[in-house]
Amino acid sequence: MRKASGPTLTKQKRPLKRCPTCHGRGVVKPMFYELPCDHCESSGVVCKETGEGLPASELILQLRLRLNEKEQEIKGLHRQLADERAKDDSRGYGAGGSRYHGD
Ligand SMILES: [Zn+2]
Repeated sequence: MRKASGPTLTKQKRPLKRCPTCHGRGVVKPMFYELPCDHCESSGVVCKETGEGLPASELILQLRLRLNEKEQEIKGLHRQLADERAKDDSRGYGAGGSRYHGD
């Protein structure tokens, strides 16, 4: 499914790293108050290659892609957990017993 790697404008995940200015927190505390980190647009991440913050539109995509991955991961874990529970529940009732469906 890999297409020819276009240079720009690809909706792909870019390597990011923790913002060195705010240490990934998205806020800095120069004096007494926490302020939004302007190096990383308060995202806590910067481009891994350049070390520069990404523009907001790009950031939204990059963070969204990561969030999608995490959601998939959590869904997968929930499914595994439901399967494990189903195994436990059906113990003693023979194979092919009712399966637990998590919602
Ligand atoms: Zn920062």
